[in-house]
Amino acid sequence: MNDDTVLNRALARQLRGLHLTSASSPSPAAWLALLDLLSTTYTKADDERLTLRRSIDLSSREMRSMHEDLSRQALQDTLTGLPNRAALIRHLDQSLKACARLGQGLAVLFIDLDGFKQVNDSLGHAVGDELLVLAGQRIRACMRPQDVVARLGSDEFVVVCPNVSGSTIVPDIAARIGSQLAAPFPIGDHQAIVSASIGLVTTADTGASAEDLLGQADLAMYEAKVGGRARATAFDSSMQMAVDNRFSVRNALGRAVTGHELRVLYQPIVSLADERVVGAEALVRWERPGFGLVQPDDFIPIAEESSLISAVDCWVLQEVCRRGAQWCAAGAVIAINLSARTLQQDDVVRTLSQSLDQSGIKPGQLIMEITETTLLSGTGATQDNLLRLRKLGVKLSIDDFGTGQSSLSQLQQTDVDVLKIDQSFVARMDADTSSAAIVNAIITLGHALGLSIVAEGVERPTQAVLLREVGCDQVQGWLFGRPLPAEAIDRAFGLAEPELSAG
Ligand code: C2E
Ligand code: MG
Ligand code: MG
Repeated sequence: MNDDTVLNRALARQLRGLHLTSASSPSPAAWLALLDLLSTTYTKADDERLTLRRSIDLSSREMRSMHEDLSRQALQDTLTGLPNRAALIRHLDQSLKACARLGQGLAVLFIDLDGFKQVNDSLGHAVGDELLVLAGQRIRACMRPQDVVARLGSDEFVVVCPNVSGSTIVPDIAARIGSQLAAPFPIGDHQAIVSASIGLVTTADTGASAEDLLGQADLAMYEAKVGGRARATAFDSSMQMAVDNRFSVRNALGRAVTGHELRVLYQPIVSLADERVVGAEALVRWERPGFGLVQPDDFIPIAEESSLISAVDCWVLQEVCRRGAQWCAAGAVIAINLSARTLQQDDVVRTLSQSLDQSGIKPGQLIMEITETTLLSGTGATQDNLLRLRKLGVKLSIDDFGTGQSSLSQLQQTDVDVLKIDQSFVARMDADTSSAAIVNAIITLGHALGLSIVAEGVERPTQAVLLREVGCDQVQGWLFGRPLPAEAIDRAFGLAEPELSAG
């Protein structure tokens, strides 16, 4: 192999590393890298009198000007002409160092447009692009010349304000930007309307890096979105702790399902007419090493952010079928909670049907509890799975009824068997007449539709008396039994000796 071949192969390898393909035009950064690579190789080729020298015919002046153009492009957002992410990080790094040297404060504002997707979807991408350009100009016009306004991508902008002092200045800047962006954008024949969720972080602290500050401002922006949009929220350290906690719970929960750390407790469901235990609701718990028994509210919402929830729900389904077969043989029904995401999974009905086959439980003895929000936000897959569940013969219950959108037409269209009145109404029904009226109305409506009614969260005898008066069918609550281990339910169905009382 001669030197030419060796050099050409080395060059080819490096070119491949730049991911330049004929199918896509290279990014400015890739062009720059290519130019650097060619000029190095060019020099080498010159020295070693190799063939590549002839193939590159760029004068050094052209090369320099092209380099400058590309450098600019590599740091500029092509749509708005504002600095892009790479330029922002560079500015932020420099500003942080300068502010630290001069003992000045620095603020970062992370701006995300609310409703931009709707503008894009309804008015088209050309209007969307124009809006982004105008939004960038409006933000720029709110700022001092020494402030940097950059576009990160999509509908996200970042402002860096060096040398800010005083606690009200940054919120004032955020309010100014917010009101400028909330004004309609006249584009062609349209009036595009958006608002802005803004996260802000101020620092006099020299320790934080540019990426840290951006991340903190982004977190604060997310809180502004969650808090209702069209607002500015300042970063505080609890936001970072919440993110760290979510991350650690998600990681540990991934191992919990296979690592046998999940448990199921069963809360008795009682017939109000004769106070007999007729079934139980399965409620998951997590015995997390080093943390004790973790309640569902502390991990189910995190599991629901990913497919972890399906693993949890499917494990509970299998465990209930394994442990509850004897109770069902004695005539009990068992209720199981299913999250929206689980109900979208292909394999949930298959898992359930296999578990039913193995356990011998009749499908009609299992009740799947879903919320109104799950019903309303459900995709086609949700509706398909609901139909398949019905076909299988399991029952459906609407959990926490009255707290979601309570769509009566949805209720009419969905083939359900049970309504569970949310405990917030039950909690107040013996103290305030409007809660009692709502409970009464739900029972009347449910019965008119041929549904069975369960009231959750019954804690006091007065509530039980009122519920009996208005014809509620079944109840669940601390008055009748807390969530219990399976052995206690064995005893409730006479499948184990009663526990000997102490003394
Ligand atoms: P939910 O399905 O509405 O369950 C009722 C919740 O109310 C349970 O809380 C139960 O312990 C509690 N509760 C029952 N009676 C009373 C009472 O008299 N007073 C009060 N204050 N509370 C009472 P828990 O066990 O903490 O579960 C909370 C939620 O977590 C459940 O609400 C359900 O949405 C979810 N969850 C529990 N297990 C699972 C599961 O296996 N899968 C899914 N996807 N979600 C589950
Ligand atoms: Mg439930
Ligand atoms: Mg409930």
